[in-house]
Amino acid sequence: MDYDVEAIRSHFPILERILPNGKQLVYFDNAATTQKPLVVIDAMSDFYKNYHANAHRANHTLADESTAALEGARDKISLFFGASESSMIYTGGATEAMNLIAYGWARYNLEEGDVVVTTEMEHHANIVPWQELSKDIGIELRFVPFDNEARKLDYGALEVAAKGASLVCAGHVSNVLGVRNDVERIIKIAHSNGARVALDSAQGAPHEKINFDGLGADFCAIAGHKMAGPTGIGCLLVKADALAEMGPFLTGGSIITSVTTEGTQFLDGYSMFETGTPRMAEAIGWRAAVEWLEENINFHDAHEHIHNIASWMSNEMEKIPGITIFGAPGRDDGVGVVSFLHESILAQDMGYLLDAGGFAIRTGTHCAQPLLEAMGVASTNRASIWIYNTMEEAEAFIVHLRDIVNRFA
Ligand code: PLP
Repeated sequence: MDYDVEAIRSHFPILERILPNGKQLVYFDNAATTQKPLVVIDAMSDFYKNYHANAHRANHTLADESTAALEGARDKISLFFGASESSMIYTGGATEAMNLIAYGWARYNLEEGDVVVTTEMEHHANIVPWQELSKDIGIELRFVPFDNEARKLDYGALEVAAKGASLVCAGHVSNVLGVRNDVERIIKIAHSNGARVALDSAQGAPHEKINFDGLGADFCAIAGHKMAGPTGIGCLLVKADALAEMGPFLTGGSIITSVTTEGTQFLDGYSMFETGTPRMAEAIGWRAAVEWLEENINFHDAHEHIHNIASWMSNEMEKIPGITIFGAPGRDDGVGVVSFLHESILAQDMGYLLDAGGFAIRTGTHCAQPLLEAMGVASTNRASIWIYNTMEEAEAFIVHLRDIVNRFA
């Protein structure tokens, strides 16, 4: 069956938006956060209207309903990610999930001189926690270089860096370039060196159906808001044996069996990591998003649709004088991102000029400064495509971009 993008778009009210300048919104900032289908907004609104109460605490009807919804969402979402033999810990997003690996696992299992490997391609969420942990406990942090020529991770350097490492942490898909790393190969390299492996799948999960148990990674960080879910929710998927090695990170109520003035006993499993009032509305919204994706999106067809748009856009942009494309949108490992720069129009100015035509893109360093340094640029413009974008939007974008270059270059 053909990919029915209009049917998909009809679920997203915001895509109808007319901006204050009278322009129709074209939303190409999906790698920052995706829009939400109406079912997600309705599910959250229904919770607040009809059964909102604090989960895992009281014995009244609303509290029971809220608890059941929170835990039901966990079951549904972890099944969606193929994590039936693993645990899912709710977090505020992918950043918190990466910090949970650093402070809930590495802090308890690594000591001075132990090696953590990350890469130059990472979002800061997979760099800064390791630098901070290095200050705390003296781990050695190794960076695998980005091969700017080949526009992909230097796997030969990874083979070397992984020797003697305790943990290898890598991004699934680059948020700047849209290049999908060969995560299967990364997992193999890490495990053959006896290291645990953590994936930052913030940009992978919106584009492919993750099968966490099948992949074999030890940890996987996911952001709900980048895959049609609400903001303020994400998760860390953890293999059972890695979970058994973890200790508390953020502490307080809800994660304990007893607290005395002498000390605290903690709950086991994922319950040890979700302190304070749970993210109930957000979990309910994320469940609705996951169910919506299951009912409406075939990930294979969606990927093809997104890939066609992104590679066509990058081909057309390459014909515009002064524009450089980064990453490899047309390659098989290209996942819906066109990162570009014009030689004489600053990225930030380009952002404003595109916005004047209704086009929402991201400009700047994309929280990935080491990658930009490896690429030799201070910033880029990033158009990121998702399931509801159309070829007509891409065509309009190219017309507007040509016009900007003609007028301002
Ligand atoms: N990792 C990657 C690759 C990302 O692209 C992002 C967000 O842009 C994050 C981590 C942080 O995710 P969150 O906003 O859910 O904390």
